[in-house]
Amino acid sequence: MNIHEYQAKALLRDYGAPVSDGRVVLKAEDAKTAAGELGGPLWVVKAQIHAGGRGKGSFKEAEAGEKGGVRLAKSVEEAAEEAKKMLGRTLVTHQTGPVGKQVNRIYIEEGSDIDRELYLALLVDRQTSRVSFVCSTEGGMDIEEVAASTPEKILSFSVDPATGYMPYHGRRIAFALGLEGAAVKQCVALMGTLYKAFVEKDMEMLEINPLIVMPGNELKVLDAKLGFDGNAMYRQRDVAELRDTTEEDPKELEASKYDLNYIALDGEIGCMVNGAGLAMATMDIIKLYGAEPANFLDVGGGATKEKVTEAFKIITSDPNVKGILVNIFGGIMRCDVIAEGVIAAVKEVGLQVPLVVRLEGTNVEKGKEIIATSGLNVIAADDLKDGAEKIVKAVKG
Ligand code: GDP
Ligand code: MG
Repeated sequence: MNIHEYQAKALLRDYGAPVSDGRVVLKAEDAKTAAGELGGPLWVVKAQIHAGGRGKGSFKEAEAGEKGGVRLAKSVEEAAEEAKKMLGRTLVTHQTGPVGKQVNRIYIEEGSDIDRELYLALLVDRQTSRVSFVCSTEGGMDIEEVAASTPEKILSFSVDPATGYMPYHGRRIAFALGLEGAAVKQCVALMGTLYKAFVEKDMEMLEINPLIVMPGNELKVLDAKLGFDGNAMYRQRDVAELRDTTEEDPKELEASKYDLNYIALDGEIGCMVNGAGLAMATMDIIKLYGAEPANFLDVGGGATKEKVTEAFKIITSDPNVKGILVNIFGGIMRCDVIAEGVIAAVKEVGLQVPLVVRLEGTNVEKGKEIIATSGLNVIAADDLKDGAEKIVKAVKG
């Protein structure tokens, strides 16, 4: 689960991290008051969307030479003007995809003077099963680009959970970032603060790009992106309340209401599968036969008729879906129950695209018979290979 920059900064401020004072604005008429509450002489007006690269992004229907989603202003009036110009419009960045994201919230912040822009991140490293620090002197840039062209400028190491964060971790970072004097001490303390917040709040990712060095040799968190483990939200009530569902894929949101594990992708074959492993294998084999999956969908072990119907609705609501492959292994669930669910779902939702159903497991014969005698235009498949081949052929000819 992700949150907005202004929420991330408020959370980090509570932990004691240095961030600028700022106000969030939802309505254009509140922008002037908000900016007026902050001291000048510089204001930063920032579009709040769940995507990075806002500064280099551009608005749809932008005027010639119009700036992106991060703008500097020299007066309260100018800050309010810029906020008004951005609210309600669609911002496209390299992380939003070409569709972009609508800007519904603006953050107005006291501007900072910048000497250097640095990069810092904490993340869960799946290879070492530990929390890792990643830092670089190349802040303010796309870190993926830095990693590709100048990997030697990135330092990354993991923290042993038995010791937790130690001051030498912070000194290692300060050295790699070329910090000096008071900034070293501040860095050691700040890294400890960030590590504590990361662990206590069940974060998956904490990215500060840029972390800046100001003219007085002081550090400040200038941008903040936090991602949390969705499975931990039951014990992170305050974080869960920061969720902004308008930022999420509507199909994924709908799926989460029915406890379906669904992730939208950009291929043409909709998949309905039970079990994450089988879902991954199904996506792989679709690719092997030359097509792309439109989604990952695990309906779970106890897939009821209702769940199957909802899954179907979500898959068919995606205009990119040109065919559907149902691949279910009946273990605890019986194949005949699943077949009935599929038939009921097709009858309710309708079927505009080819549908291949592959069933295996308990009561498979009965399940196949139900599909075969349903009178619906369903293509039966015997195994994974057969199913993938048939759906790709039905879609691509
Ligand atoms: P992003 O483009 O979505 O990553 O948004 P950031 O918050 O990282 O802002 C992009 C860039 O705007 C930063 O890398 C800075 O160069 C600049 N910027 C942001 N805040 C300030 C500020 O307070 N003062 C100055 N001078 N520049 C800023
Ligand atoms: Mg940034």
